[in-house]
Amino acid sequence: MKRKLVVIGAGMASGRMLEHLFNAAPDQWEVTLFNAEPRGNYNRLMLSPVLSGEKTYAQIVTHDEGWYAARGVTCRFGESVTQVDRSARIVRSAGGDTPYDALVMATGSAPFIIPVVGKELPGVVTYRDLEDTEAMIAAGLAGKSAVVIGGGLLGLEAAAGMAARGASVTVIHLMGHLMERQLDPAAGALLQQDLERRGITVHCKGATKAILGDGKAEAVLLEDGTVYPADLVCMAVGIRPETRLANDAGLEVARGIVVNDAMRTSDPHIFALGECVEHRDQLFGLVAPLYLQAEVLAQTLLNKPATFRPVQTATRLKVTGCELFGAGDFAPGEGREDIVLRDPQGGIYKRLVLQGDRIIGIVMYGDTADGGWFYDLLQREANIGAMRDALIFGPAFQPKAAPEPAQLAEAC
Ligand SMILES: Cc1cc2nc3c(=O)[nH]c(=O)nc-3n(C[C@H](O)[C@H](O)[C@H](O)COP(=O)(O)OP(=O)(O)OC[C@H]3O[C@@H](n4cnc5c(N)ncnc54)[C@H](O)[C@@H]3O)c2cc1C
Repeated sequence: MKRKLVVIGAGMASGRMLEHLFNAAPDQWEVTLFNAEPRGNYNRLMLSPVLSGEKTYAQIVTHDEGWYAARGVTCRFGESVTQVDRSARIVRSAGGDTPYDALVMATGSAPFIIPVVGKELPGVVTYRDLEDTEAMIAAGLAGKSAVVIGGGLLGLEAAAGMAARGASVTVIHLMGHLMERQLDPAAGALLQQDLERRGITVHCKGATKAILGDGKAEAVLLEDGTVYPADLVCMAVGIRPETRLANDAGLEVARGIVVNDAMRTSDPHIFALGECVEHRDQLFGLVAPLYLQAEVLAQTLLNKPATFRPVQTATRLKVTGCELFGAGDFAPGEGREDIVLRDPQGGIYKRLVLQGDRIIGIVMYGDTADGGWFYDLLQREANIGAMRDALIFGPAFQPKAAPEPAQLAEAC
């Protein structure tokens, strides 16, 4: 007889986990899938091309009705789970009680709203799901002013998307340069130039004081007194793991729902994965590690041993014309050495951070063609000693005898 698996959250992590589970053992679990959003899985990363008008929602759906039906999944979309009763092993929702043998929490994250005056005005949105995206599109952006608070990956994708729809966009960023978690100041400055060239205003070191407006958002006031007009304000200042259900159920929760290497929570019948989890003190905000979690959890649910070990993640920005690549650690530190290539005319900047004979950080802007090659070397902790002199020029400039990354890895 099939055992009952309840999954809370039809996001990118649980979608991938279900694929692995059904591929390996189609008949082991009877799955009920809850989602607060009134739909199943879609590729959240691709909301940015939907916002800019390059794709439609239908093109970014990853699991359609047919996929769920073929696997016998009971879909409870548009239905939030409100409570988990661990002793009775049921979840509660508007539709009643649903029993489980195993429960997976995959509730993702919630956008962080900065607590400023005016944050509740109509015209203030976040950027997380299709509703947010549609709200920005429905605002009829052509010829209007929009302010994005937050110059990280999400904020810049929102800014570029709204600019593509004809809005006059300003990005307010608290830090000294854009995307400071993925880029160093030099690359951040090149990115800012490229965004400004396409008509986006960038205000770094800008702290938002209030959102002004009479009955709806009309402007954003900064601490330094600057006022930017804004028919629409998009807050993209960060995310918080969605842990409320786990907290209420008495599971171990720190910043995220605490899981072990097998993605099991403090309750042996409850598992968690995705942005809602905390694993060995680490939170996750990009999909690459979540897909690894998905593989591990599917194995765990099949009673097979598996261990989650996060990998270094690389970041790219999905804004046409802004080629950037950032990975690893590029903060200054003892024993670290930089190899830098600058071509200000061509808008190209490449920086490799080395510790001994290993690459530990990569920052590239303008020409990122070799990003994958450098990243491969970084992930494999390859010894680049023999390539050091011409390393920054990429694989095409290595001596013929230079070993390929795969060979290097074997040698290590
Ligand atoms: C616009 C945008 C662009 C992005 N671009 C990139 C990128 O380029 N590269 C990258 O690596 N990452 C990117 N990300 C981040 C990436 O999308 C997330 O890391 C990923 O979607 C997280 O997956 P998840 O399954 O943990 O959560 P989610 O995909 O958020 O899914 C969680 C789901 O759980 C549901 N839920 C929550 N609580 C309940 C409840 N009580 N009951 C029922 N359902 C509930 C939510 O409604 C949601 O649908 C981007 C994110 C956004 C928003």
